[in-house]
Amino acid sequence: MDEFALIAEYFAGDAGAALGIGDDAALVEVPSGQQLAVAVDTLVAGRHFPETTPPEAIGHRALAVNLSDLAAMGATPHWYTLALTLPEAQPTWLQGFSKGLRSLGAAHGCALIGGDTTRGPLTVSVQVMGAVTAPALTRGGARPGDCVWVGGFLGDAAGGLNDAAQGRHSALARRFHYPQPQRALGEALRTVATACIDVSDGSVADLNHLLSASSVGAEIDLASLPVSPELVGSVGHEAALRLALSGGDDYVLCFTVPADTRAACLSGCYEVGRVTAEPGLRLRDGTGALIEEVADGYRHF
Ligand code: ADP
Ligand code: MG
Repeated sequence: MDEFALIAEYFAGDAGAALGIGDDAALVEVPSGQQLAVAVDTLVAGRHFPETTPPEAIGHRALAVNLSDLAAMGATPHWYTLALTLPEAQPTWLQGFSKGLRSLGAAHGCALIGGDTTRGPLTVSVQVMGAVTAPALTRGGARPGDCVWVGGFLGDAAGGLNDAAQGRHSALARRFHYPQPQRALGEALRTVATACIDVSDGSVADLNHLLSASSVGAEIDLASLPVSPELVGSVGHEAALRLALSGGDDYVLCFTVPADTRAACLSGCYEVGRVTAEPGLRLRDGTGALIEEVADGYRHF
């Protein structure tokens, strides 16, 4: 199958751009009065996902991580492009990959409008574009006294990594394979939250990014970290909390809101601590005692 047949078969056909796939560049119309929000993420086989990952999950994940970045800005996704490097054009693989990618795009109203296809070690790069009414949500607006919240269970994806790598179809493996970007929550938080980030490298690491961008600190109550019954059942309570602090790949939002906030979008979210003027992140256990060491998140370098 040549490059053009491959594109026509698996990646053609989304509407949603002024000019989509087939010319030298796509053309899009940003809604007037809004800013363009752009994010890109690359997934390399063996590094960002195990070689055994089903193609459908690779497609889903490649877009999901990008949609999560846009959600963290309070932006609405509209378009994405795909740079795909493949060792070979294998129809069953391409079918699964394209299904995972495109059904998530459809679910979020995000259209595939272009890309690039090359031969080489499996690498998937997705760039997503969206629109947001200024001011967008950023990492930089948290103030002392704000409450720290997270959008869902933490640690599940890291807890599912082993199952996923060994091809076991557990609920936790599903959480690793099919992260659900919190688009609607991000959109709602734009006018509610003071700062926001999506948790990709572990809640401690990512909350620390938010805190430094805001020039504040925080105290987190370990007992209030939301961990799923599945995770606790699989690894026990203590290991679950450790994964909730340092495990990556959850793609839930972590955000701050003024203390008196009562917003509908907070239902289903969890309050985990307070923003402080004193910089740094401090953890308290169930009794309120300070925990010394703070586990760090995943870093590539
Ligand atoms: P050019 O050589 O001008 O860069 P290409 O031959 O690479 O153009 O691509 C032709 C068209 O197909 C372009 O519109 C491009 O955006 C699109 N395209 C290429 N690869 C992909 C892909 N993997 N997914 C979606 N669109 C793609
Ligand atoms: Mg090209």
